[in-house]
Amino acid sequence: MKKKILLTLFITGLLVVPAIPLGQSQAASQEALDKINKELAEIQRKKNAQRQQVKETEQNIAVVQKQIKDLNTELMQIDLRRNEVQEKLDQLEKQMDDTRLKAAQAQDELDEAADRVEKRDALLKTRVKSMYERGNISYWDVLLGASDFGDFLTRMEGLRLILEQDTRILEDNLRDKATIEQKKKEIDHQLTVYAGMYDEAEALKAELDKQYQRSVVVKAELDKQEKELEADLERSGQELLALTRAESEKYAERVRALSSSSGGYKGGKLALPIADGNFRFTSGFGVRKDPFTGRSAGHNGVDMAAPKGTTIMAAASGIVTYAGYYSGFGNTVMIKHNDELTTLYGHIREGGIKVSVGQQVAAGQKIAEVGSTGRSTGNHLHFTVYKNNVAVDPMPYLR
Ligand SMILES: [Zn+2]
Repeated sequence: MKKKILLTLFITGLLVVPAIPLGQSQAASQEALDKINKELAEIQRKKNAQRQQVKETEQNIAVVQKQIKDLNTELMQIDLRRNEVQEKLDQLEKQMDDTRLKAAQAQDELDEAADRVEKRDALLKTRVKSMYERGNISYWDVLLGASDFGDFLTRMEGLRLILEQDTRILEDNLRDKATIEQKKKEIDHQLTVYAGMYDEAEALKAELDKQYQRSVVVKAELDKQEKELEADLERSGQELLALTRAESEKYAERVRALSSSSGGYKGGKLALPIADGNFRFTSGFGVRKDPFTGRSAGHNGVDMAAPKGTTIMAAASGIVTYAGYYSGFGNTVMIKHNDELTTLYGHIREGGIKVSVGQQVAAGQKIAEVGSTGRSTGNHLHFTVYKNNVAVDPMPYLR
């Protein structure tokens, strides 16, 4: 029940509108138009700010990505270094093992040599001792045992020779032992050197590990930053999209407000886009011979031949929705007049576009100058009328 009453009030309210005097209505629509223009300017200001935001975020992402790339290179280099150092450590370990083995062998040799020295020494001592012990009597023994003095001397000489030989062997053994000792000392020294190198390499590896860990932490931070920036970019992009939508809605709203205001296009005839007498129609709407291929082709508008630079005017009031190069039409302007009607002006001369997108134009206002840009064989205006986005014959609108 309540709903019905509200609806009735709403309808009544609408019906009341035409009762407002014309002057007030015009003032009201001008006010509405001003309000829309203000809102549009605000949307465009926000849009520019957002576009700037997007640009900055993109730059920041590029910076972070460069840092991540550099860091990845650094991590790879550290890893390579770590592998090198690890190889060095493995090699040193093997060298140390070999050297330890050599040291153990040298120790064995040394023990054996010492043993030999000891045994020879003992033997020599025994011999000397027995000689001397025998000395007091053995001279006699030897002498008595000797068949003659010559024999005695021979026997003495034999003893002396044996002693001499034993002494030589002992001396050899001692030299031998000294050599082995020296060798073992060198091996032990080598082991100390290797151990030092090993410690150094190990310290280096620990440092590299630390560096690697630090870089990994920094990289994680940068990855996080990049993700956040990407999310910012996504948000800004969505915001930009929403603002662009709001902008085009505002444009449509303005077109509607404009067509309801006194000077707006409310349907019916369009004004000639080139002043009467300054042009002649050269091609109509529909099928015609293509000026380039000579074959039959569709023509979605009318051609109006006129000298280069001739003034082109808006066929009705509206909002400029396109101003720039548009493939075959060359330099082109499009004006939206109301929800259903849009006009297009093609082949405008270089530098001949006099309006910009979003601009509000009045019927008969100069918007461009005749030229021959795009797919054109001579100076002329190509004029198309779109009704609900479909090209229709402009002639009924112009005559
Ligand atoms: Zn044409």
